[in-house]
Amino acid sequence: KVRVRFAPSPTGGLHLGGVRTALFNYLFAKQHQGTFILRVEDTDQTRFVPGAEEYIVSCLEWCGMSPDESPQKGGDYGPYRQSERKASYKQYADQLIEDGYAYYAFDTPEELDAKRKEFPNFLYGQATRMQMRNSLTLPALEVQSLLEKGVPHVVRILIPENEQVSFMDLIRGHVSFDTNLVDDKVLLKADGMPTYHLAVVADDKAMEISHVFRGEEWLPSAPIHILLWRYLGWEDEMPHWVHLPLILKPDGNGKLSKRDGDRLGFPVYAQNWTDPKTGDLTRGFKELGFLPEAFVNLLAMLGWNDGTDQELFSMQDLIEKFSVERISKAGAKFDFEKAKWYNHEWIKKSEPSEIASFVKAEFAQKGVDLKEDAYLHKVIALVKDRCNLLTDFISQSSFFFQTPESYDLDAVKPKWNADKTSFFKAFTTIVAENLDAMELEARFKELVAVQGLKAGELMLPLRIMLVGGKFGPGVFDIAVLLGTEETIQRINKALE
Ligand code: GLU
Repeated sequence: KVRVRFAPSPTGGLHLGGVRTALFNYLFAKQHQGTFILRVEDTDQTRFVPGAEEYIVSCLEWCGMSPDESPQKGGDYGPYRQSERKASYKQYADQLIEDGYAYYAFDTPEELDAKRKEFPNFLYGQATRMQMRNSLTLPALEVQSLLEKGVPHVVRILIPENEQVSFMDLIRGHVSFDTNLVDDKVLLKADGMPTYHLAVVADDKAMEISHVFRGEEWLPSAPIHILLWRYLGWEDEMPHWVHLPLILKPDGNGKLSKRDGDRLGFPVYAQNWTDPKTGDLTRGFKELGFLPEAFVNLLAMLGWNDGTDQELFSMQDLIEKFSVERISKAGAKFDFEKAKWYNHEWIKKSEPSEIASFVKAEFAQKGVDLKEDAYLHKVIALVKDRCNLLTDFISQSSFFFQTPESYDLDAVKPKWNADKTSFFKAFTTIVAENLDAMELEARFKELVAVQGLKAGELMLPLRIMLVGGKFGPGVFDIAVLLGTEETIQRINKALE
């Protein structure tokens, strides 16, 4: 039975990589009629950020990936916040100590800092653990008395010497780590909270997780987790490991970070995130005008393809076609121009009614009155091919709702003359006949010919009269959608 979990720490906004991890978990779960779980890994209280969990939940919802089990939804394997499972972890630390796989360490933070200063590559492990203050080096009686007195201490895993920890990663194949390079990680902290390493293994076991999909940055932690599965006697139930490739900066030079987004002017978060401490806003794809369908699609393509040239996939397509075998080992470069292309394609594919509410919200923010829905839908249908972002609808279609306040006069003024004025006066009587766009264009051209003018010199002025600038869809389509009365009014106003 497939049970997978997305296990974010509530430490801030949700980065592209995090959402992609959630997506691959989700796709795999749905493809196998499995269960997609949201587990909140909030054991590090120093990094806890209020509001981050709610934010994560809302991002998942926006993307259309609602968990089957979560802190909000509940489920048979709860609680789904690690802080609420605190009582369950200590027994495992105790068991590991008893079996000789872990030990108490009494070194103070200051002592550890001093060591790290002295040895920049300090590793609490085989070369050093015998010089530190722990239950391996102190006499048993002293250890007991320190524990009884409640002297602050942690529990560390005892990493074996000269061993290879090997496992299968479903993307990377056979992976092997030399234990001499792995340190004795803390499992239980002085405050009694487990660290990530202990909690993740205990919970993956308790929640019967079948596959762990997570970012490649966790690969170095895998040997610790595998040893814990082994030492706790659970190796037969260990999940399959799937470490997803990194998402790289546009130039491929290193991992994409939040700072790259700020520097290069694109979002790296799913939704806007305001840091509650500093008040700093990090922009998100949603507010910038991305459709969730496009966001999901572009995320899926960061490290996966179906083996063909197809690039556009709906969530349903992805659920059908997703396969772990086709996830690449190599990091995936993030390209914002390409991201906008996905959005453009999804805007084009969408029915006006499907995007109307987004567009309405954008306009509402600008205080623009949109008239009836039917009109808005026609406007959307006419301009959507020109929009990369939902926010582009503002600039691309405001003139349908508001008479232009200014005109790009430079484009027409130098070549203006009385003949043109009289042409447009005559043209208004044609507009009044309420024609369709094709007929209106034909009659426009006929009038041009009759008056001995050039169509090319009159189309742009007409556009500027109706739109205000040199942009927009076909000018006769615009005139027809604006309607007879509004078109005539705009022409007359411009001629004043
Ligand atoms: N809590 C970890 C994170 O924040 C989860 C890593 C894992 O999936 O094991 O990414």
